Amino acid sequence: MPAVSSNLGFPRIAANRELKTALESYWKGKIDESELIKRAKQIEKQSWIWQKEAGIDLIPVGDFALYDQVLDAVELFGAVPQRYQEIEWISPIERYFAMARGISKYGGVSAMEMTKWFNTNYHYLVPEWSEDQAFELNAEKLIDQIQRAKQLGITPKPVVIGPVTLIALGKAKSSDCSLEKTFQELLPIYVELFQKLEELGVKHVQLDEPCLNVELTPTQRKWIQESCEALHAAAPNIEINLASYFDGLDENLELVFSLPVQVVHLDLVTAPDQLVQALKIISDDKTLSLGVVNGRNIWTANLDQAIAQVQQAVNQLGKDRVQIGPSCSLLHCPIDVSSETAIDEEIKPWLAFAKQKLDEIALITKAVNEGQDSVAELLKQNRTILESRSTSALVVAEAVRQRVSQVDEAMYARNTSFVERYRQQQQHLKLPILPTTTIGSFPQTREVRKARADFRNQRITEEQYQEFLEEQTADCIRKQEEIGLDVLVHGEFERNDMVEYFGEKLAGFTETSNGWVQSYGSRCVKPPVIYGDVHRPKPMTVQWTEFAQNQTEKPVKGMLTGPVTILCWSFVRDDIPRSETCKQIALAIRDEVQDLEAAGIQLIQIDEPAIREGLPLKQADWDAYLKWAVDCFRLSSSGVKDTTQIHTHMCYSEFNDIFQAIADLDADVISIETSRSQMELLTGFVEFNYPNAIGPGVYDIHSPRVPTHQEVTDLLKQAIQVLPIERLWVNPDCGLKTRGWKEVLAALKVMVSASQELREESLVR
Ligand code: GLN
Ligand code: ZN
Repeated sequence: MPAVSSNLGFPRIAANRELKTALESYWKGKIDESELIKRAKQIEKQSWIWQKEAGIDLIPVGDFALYDQVLDAVELFGAVPQRYQEIEWISPIERYFAMARGISKYGGVSAMEMTKWFNTNYHYLVPEWSEDQAFELNAEKLIDQIQRAKQLGITPKPVVIGPVTLIALGKAKSSDCSLEKTFQELLPIYVELFQKLEELGVKHVQLDEPCLNVELTPTQRKWIQESCEALHAAAPNIEINLASYFDGLDENLELVFSLPVQVVHLDLVTAPDQLVQALKIISDDKTLSLGVVNGRNIWTANLDQAIAQVQQAVNQLGKDRVQIGPSCSLLHCPIDVSSETAIDEEIKPWLAFAKQKLDEIALITKAVNEGQDSVAELLKQNRTILESRSTSALVVAEAVRQRVSQVDEAMYARNTSFVERYRQQQQHLKLPILPTTTIGSFPQTREVRKARADFRNQRITEEQYQEFLEEQTADCIRKQEEIGLDVLVHGEFERNDMVEYFGEKLAGFTETSNGWVQSYGSRCVKPPVIYGDVHRPKPMTVQWTEFAQNQTEKPVKGMLTGPVTILCWSFVRDDIPRSETCKQIALAIRDEVQDLEAAGIQLIQIDEPAIREGLPLKQADWDAYLKWAVDCFRLSSSGVKDTTQIHTHMCYSEFNDIFQAIADLDADVISIETSRSQMELLTGFVEFNYPNAIGPGVYDIHSPRVPTHQEVTDLLKQAIQVLPIERLWVNPDCGLKTRGWKEVLAALKVMVSASQELREESLVR
């Protein structure tokens, strides 16, 4: 029996983001539910066909979700939180999107929390666990997917998020909620599912337990054991592929190989060394699934190296006990590099997107099954490509290397302590207590997007586009003055995306024309590709910030993306350490900060929403990462006068375990997401005794719902109770680019009036 090729998951957005279009048309009421479903099925079908045509033997099914795969799992196992069960929905889809996005109908129902999927930039909806929860199987959707896949003549491999990971991804809603009970009640539903799948004739199931690559508690290890045993006993004819990725199994390796599962998947891109260990302990009844093609970066694979890895396994196990695949789901990759028009012809062959990765997997499989001669020509081409990349003049910039080597200690620190400089800043800026501001972006309306597209497609001239942006910016300043905000922003109309924008301006980066990756729901990002040494040929944001400042007496806050976030949200080169690339970016941002200051900008925000997601999965590796990440932020922000106020912003993450690092950033003001978790996050900052100023987000911008005056006041009062009022700022959770003006104006007015009211009250006191 030959080795088989296998995939772990495919991007859902479709070649031209058709899923985004369908979802947004549906939300706007332009298409109905049946049309939405029809289009979704078409996308799903196309991805199966691509995988089949590429020669993938085991094709994932059930990895497709309309909004999020974790939300689908919540529905599959009937783990829908109580507040969504009390409503008579028009349809299950209405409920599904209410959980994902909140809904103003039915008196207003908030969305589920959202957070990042391991150390990626994909966001999932956080399951909620409560004491009295009852679960039930709702497998119709998955069964339908399996049947549709079978009709296409493919071997479906349903992908199911395992119970231990599902529980770990979620949050206990009350302190008395016993997760042991949750597990014990959830497991029978998994058993029922597996029985049903077996009845349907399913032969392979991919049980995703990526939590195996994070340190597990003894209880979680017990659950892994219990669940695999129960599922195997319930459906002995199903070959369970226990999949974990993004790191190595390490201390869980022995546990995993002792389980009654037939296939174990190893991420050999992140943790190549675990292959040797796995081969030492693997028993005769097990197959290895070898993740040898990087599922989350875009570089053309080194095929010789991948074949050698696979061959090592084949030598011991034989071909029939080996599967060949990507390190993780291809969800995190764009779809097709062959349609790219924006990439330099020299660089393009260095890149492989999801479809090319399928080809790489198929090619490696062929080489292993039929011998390298059968693919000799393609292997030769691959060697030429790798050689071209490693010797290209586009990659190394000597001046950058030199500058990085000359960075000294003093460049990492501000001149004075926070207390001293903050006092100076507030006096200098003449700000009231509880100053109000926003996170940076204002609505990217259809008009804004159209003008950008028109400019890109040369339907309007550069001058016309500039003029348009000036109008937008000036108008945005007027609106902010009208709302009564204290610190204004220019609105970011010239930016498509907070990382992409800088990627276009920095040397060493290339943009893609269609390299979209799902961030959450219908939101996609187009990460730039860092292929070479990074530097800043000229100022990137000064013109717009200065223009905005010239429209108003109020201070305008300059808006930059931090080095760590630029790094985390780009596809990063793999030929030098990430920390090195980050330092190069930090120096470029430092230059920008100094130029903004020289142009008279007194507040500069350096966003670092991604700092937490860059954390390695294993705590043992955290310190090393945090050290260079914090250093890079400080390098970018410390070259200013005491009176220049540095802000930073972070969102949608758990900060609890990185407070020290956040404090070490030494930003004067940090704005954070707090409203979705009812200020829970703020409590952490209070307990940690966070020393600098904080702007807890007072309303959720991911929902179109306008907060009530009471809600905002309540949140602010909670904050005032626990933090010194002089160090509090008032702002939304995040940027407003995805919202419409109507709700933005309404919500910000509520925010400003709540702040003003409390300001007066506290002055009276
Ligand atoms: N300044 C950015 C904006 O307002 C920040 C976005 C973010 O944190 N993701 O859009
Ligand atoms: Zn944010």
